[in-house]
Amino acid sequence: MDIPFMDLAAQHREVWEDLHASFEKVLAESSFALGPAVQTFEEEFAEFCDVDHCAGLSSGTAALHLALRTLDVGPGDEVITTPLTFIASVWPISYLGASPVFVDVEPETCTIDPSRLEGAVTDRTKVILPVHLYGHPAPMDPILKVADRHELFVVEDAAQAHGAAYRGRPCGSMGKVGCFSFYPSKNLGACGEAGAVVTSDPVLDARIRSLRDHAQEKKHVHRELGYNYRMDGLQGAALRVKLERLRSWNGSRRRVATRYREHLADLPEVTLPVEREEARHVYHLYVVRLPSGEARDALRNHLERRGVGTGLHYPTPVHLQPAYRHLDHGRGSFPRAERAADRVLSLPMHPHMTDDQARNVAAEVRAFFGDG
Ligand SMILES: *Cc1c(COP(=O)(O)O)cnc(C)c1O
Repeated sequence: MDIPFMDLAAQHREVWEDLHASFEKVLAESSFALGPAVQTFEEEFAEFCDVDHCAGLSSGTAALHLALRTLDVGPGDEVITTPLTFIASVWPISYLGASPVFVDVEPETCTIDPSRLEGAVTDRTKVILPVHLYGHPAPMDPILKVADRHELFVVEDAAQAHGAAYRGRPCGSMGKVGCFSFYPSKNLGACGEAGAVVTSDPVLDARIRSLRDHAQEKKHVHRELGYNYRMDGLQGAALRVKLERLRSWNGSRRRVATRYREHLADLPEVTLPVEREEARHVYHLYVVRLPSGEARDALRNHLERRGVGTGLHYPTPVHLQPAYRHLDHGRGSFPRAERAADRVLSLPMHPHMTDDQARNVAAEVRAFFGDG
């Protein structure tokens, strides 16, 4: 059996001709930094997210950095976020000299637990930064309620949630700002590095456009510290081609998730991902949980031996990373995130996976537990 964890080659085979045509156009125009393809992509992606503005950037990390920077997050400020995420959700807080304040996760979705937010707010808190982890939206209504009550900004990390929705509202559109990554493996991935910020606030959008391009007010005039965070022209072109397929690819991910559920739901040892009633999950990752860390590692080894690719998202919560040792959060600080980190296992998930492949992965999981 050879079932890869993901299959970008299959994705690119599907859009090969269109990608070539769009790259040739960029080459002919030589518009390599921003340019017409990026601008059109920005308009199309803003519409996709149901917001007024989108600014194309060089990465998701850059998106979070500029989002927080335009909200004037700086030294002494606190940003509340989750410890169970990719570390890039948290770096930008530190880039600006602010402090991450972690709030533990809900056990079911592994997104931030809104019932614990209130207790984490201080008079230094400026932003709540929820992550729509694995493609499932964070519980936005209670998050927005706490933010409103304390006059905090909400910055959504939607890097895993292109096309996901909460009560019909697209992820990225509910907070003050939404941040996206188009790293190649994301649900919408470039052919290189890229990211974007979406917002319906025209002032924030204008500031982000300025900051991404060296804060150049006009030629040779720089009024504040700027960055080179522009989106690459070829990436804008690739993203336009792939955005056309995103709804269908997300539908296909949901089909694979349905197959997994059909074949695995009755296994008592495996906890499957949930999709809350108010949520539309886009299954960036299909993350199951095992009863213990040993069971997780053993199943992972079994699957690897049988040719089934797997991943861990994430085996070490951010508060236990060596880079954040100075925060002095030992083991036990955020027990739900730590428990999940020990037990999670990501099964193969991508839009070009067949029903047979999903069934075969499930059969190998069942075989490991002595069933089938
Ligand atoms: C991928 C990712 C990022 C960072 O995006 P880059 O484009 O790699 O900089 C941030 N947050 C989350 C949750 C991600 O998955």
